[in-house]
Amino acid sequence: MLRIYDTRTRQVEEIAAGRALRMYTCGPTVYRHAHVGNLRTYLLSDLIRRVLERRRVRVVACQNITDVGHLIEDPSGEAALGDVASGEAASRQAVSHEGEDKVLAQARAEGRSPLELARFYESSFRSDTAALNLRPPEHTPRASESIDLMVELIAKLIEKGHAYAVPDGSVFFDARTFPTYGEISGNRLDALKPAHRIDAVDPRKRFHADWALWKPSSEGELTWDTPWGRGFPGWHVECSAMSLRFLGSSFELHIGGIDLRFPHHEDERAQSDSAAGHEVVRHWVHGEHLLFDGRKMAKSTGNVVLLSDVVAAGLDPLAVRMAFLEHRYRQQLNLTWDTLKAADRTVRRWRTRVAEWSESISAPMATAYAERVESAFDDDLDTPAALRILRELERDESVAPGAKFETFLHLDQVLGLDLSADIGKARVLPAGAGELLEARARARDAKDWEAADRLRDELAEMGVRVSDTSEGQTWA
Ligand code: AMP
Ligand code: ZN
Repeated sequence: MLRIYDTRTRQVEEIAAGRALRMYTCGPTVYRHAHVGNLRTYLLSDLIRRVLERRRVRVVACQNITDVGHLIEDPSGEAALGDVASGEAASRQAVSHEGEDKVLAQARAEGRSPLELARFYESSFRSDTAALNLRPPEHTPRASESIDLMVELIAKLIEKGHAYAVPDGSVFFDARTFPTYGEISGNRLDALKPAHRIDAVDPRKRFHADWALWKPSSEGELTWDTPWGRGFPGWHVECSAMSLRFLGSSFELHIGGIDLRFPHHEDERAQSDSAAGHEVVRHWVHGEHLLFDGRKMAKSTGNVVLLSDVVAAGLDPLAVRMAFLEHRYRQQLNLTWDTLKAADRTVRRWRTRVAEWSESISAPMATAYAERVESAFDDDLDTPAALRILRELERDESVAPGAKFETFLHLDQVLGLDLSADIGKARVLPAGAGELLEARARARDAKDWEAADRLRDELAEMGVRVSDTSEGQTWA
C-alpha cells in the first residue's frame, strides 16, 4: 500500500485507505494561466490517485476553484500581479495596493468582468490539466458558488466561540482558541511575531495572528449579504467550507504546494477542526516547488513557463509530465528547456518502442519488473526509481518484446504518458502489396529489371514507394 510523507507528523506514513479514500487539493486561483509549477502540484494529486486506484481503492477527489477571496498579500507564492496574457498595457495597470483580490485586480487590468475573467482562466486550467492527463476530480466547487457553506461555517465558529465579528462587518478567527495551531508548519502561535504590516496595528483583532473569515465590501458582483454585513470570504475559510461539505468531517488526504503549509493550511486546519470538534484531515501532503533558472517559478518572479509555451516549442505536453516524474515530488526541481527536451525524447522513444513491441508475439507481463516499479510508486512516490527500472527493462534482452509491451502499458496506468499512442501508426501494407514486394525482390535477384520496374510502378499506384538500397529494397 502507498506510504507517503505526512508534513504534520513529519514521517512517512502508510495510507490506510480501506476501500475508499477522500482527498482534497487546494485548487487554482483563476486570475491567470496556471504555470507548469502550479501544474506540478496538481500532478502530485493525480499520481496519488492513480497509485491508489491501482490498489483497487475508490478515490473521491475534491479540488476547488478559487474565484474570489484570494488577496494579493496572501502568501501563496504570488506577491503581485505582473505579466498577464493580454500584454504590457494590462501589466502596467495591474499595479494595485496590497490586500486587493487577485481576480478583481486582474479583471480591471484586462477590462473584463471578474466572473468572465475567472471562467476564462478556469477553462484554460481545465485544458492544461487534460493535456497533462490529470484525471478530473469528482468535485470542483467554485468558491463564488459556495458562499452559503462559508456563511454556515463562520456562524458555527462564532457560536462555538472560535470566531468573533467586529463592527465594520469583518469576522475574525480567534487563533488562541486553537492551541495546537502550527503543527503542520512548526509555526506555533507563541513563537509568531506580529507581522510588520497592518496586522501589528490592526485594532479590530484580539490577537495579532487572528485572520479574517469574512471581509466587508459592498462593491461589484463578488460580494454577498450576510448576518455580519455585505462582503466576501477570506481565502482560508473557502477550503474548509468546501472540503467539509464535499468530503465530510473526516477525510484522509489534503494536498497542496509547500508554500501553502503556512498560513493557508494551518488556518484551514484550525477552522475545520474547531467546527468539527476533532482532527478532520488524516494526512497533510505537500509538493516541493518547481524552480526555473534556479528560482521558484512564479508570475511575480517573471520566470513563468506555460504549457502552451512547451507546445509552441514543438514538445509534447506530456514531456512536462515525464520531466516531473524524473524527480520525486518532495525534491525541488530546477526545470530547464534541456530537461524538457530530454523528457520529450524519452516519451517519443517509449511510444515507438511500445508500438514496435506490440507487433511481436504476445507474452505475459514481466511481473518481477512490474512489481519493482509498483513498489517504487508505493515508496513515497519514488517515480525516479520507477523510471530507472523501466529503462532497465527496456534494455533487458532476456525479456521478450511482447512482455515489455504488456509491462509498459500496465504501468502507464500510473505514468499517464500515453505510451500506446503510436500503436497502429506502424507501417501497414495495403492488401496485395506484400506479394508484389516479394515478386519484385525475386525479379531483382533474377536481374529481371524490366519486371522489377513494372512492379515498382504497380506498387506506387497502391501508395507504396519502393527504393533500392545496398541491403535490398525498402518501402514507405
Ligand atoms: P495558486 O493558483 O496561486 O493558488 O496556486 C496553485 C497551487 O500551485 C498551490 O498548491 C501552490 O502551492 C502551487 N505552486 C505555486 N507555485 C509553485 C511552484 N513554483 N512549484 C510548485 N507548485 C507551486
Ligand atoms: Zn486550500
